Amino acid sequence: MAAKHTYRFTVGTFDCSIVRDGTFAYPHPAQMFFANAPESDRAQALRDHDIDPDHWEEYVSPYPGLLIETGDHTVLVDTGAGDLAPTTGNLRANLSEGGVEPEDIDTVLLTHGHPDHVGGCVDDEGEPAFRDARYIMPDTEWEFWTSEPDLSGLAVGDDIRSVLRDVPRKVLPPIREQLELVDSDTETEVVPGVRVLPAPGHTPGHVAVSVASEDDHLLHLVDTVLHPIHLAHPTWYGVTDHDPDQVVTTRERLLEDAAAEHVSVLAYHFPEPGLGQITQAGEAWEWRPIEG
Ligand SMILES: [Zn+2]
Repeated sequence: MAAKHTYRFTVGTFDCSIVRDGTFAYPHPAQMFFANAPESDRAQALRDHDIDPDHWEEYVSPYPGLLIETGDHTVLVDTGAGDLAPTTGNLRANLSEGGVEPEDIDTVLLTHGHPDHVGGCVDDEGEPAFRDARYIMPDTEWEFWTSEPDLSGLAVGDDIRSVLRDVPRKVLPPIREQLELVDSDTETEVVPGVRVLPAPGHTPGHVAVSVASEDDHLLHLVDTVLHPIHLAHPTWYGVTDHDPDQVVTTRERLLEDAAAEHVSVLAYHFPEPGLGQITQAGEAWEWRPIEG
């Protein structure tokens, strides 16, 4: 049933779809997403969001690819997690169900090197999954994840550290011949109307994505925020955030812009479909999700 796996909307004249790769249940989400939050503040924030702080065992995150059909180009932003878990790796099947085959996609934009964003860039044989596409990735990300990434600063277990290190080293080299690197420090238009925006911190060269057509505008925050509570508490960071200070600076800049310009916003890990608007609320912000 297409409606279940794909959420369609428009940005100006562009047809956009949020296409589900799958979901993943993160254990101990309070620690994972709000690692530096004082215990009592965190409990209160959870209650404010109708979550029982004593029984928040897992957060089931969607993994959404963003498909943008501009008329001239078919762009896919992020590729899901591939075979990371039994519950992931459905992106291409779900694209196909909506009438889009892998060879229809001419541009694959990888926002950063985390396994849940790059895992689906190759197929089961380890070949590029989108054989006619150019793959675009921020240069800092490519260099970081394809060399010997220093993950010693992350407060994660060795199992997670291994996954973070091994998946990109497996799936990124095969796309090398289709790869186009962009400067992670400057805005770059990858096709008319679709731009990558520097948003470092979550990972060294993490980028956000701006989609603009006519007077309509979508800002894809990707992993600048991981949970809606980050809008109310922008200084709380997660255990997979590489540079906490930079995360906060990037977050405040993008959230301020999104609120001031009243744009539509997409966030990768937010409850489906992950689309909404951001409004200023005192010193922080508030999430106004659209109904899925
Ligand atoms: Zn990430």
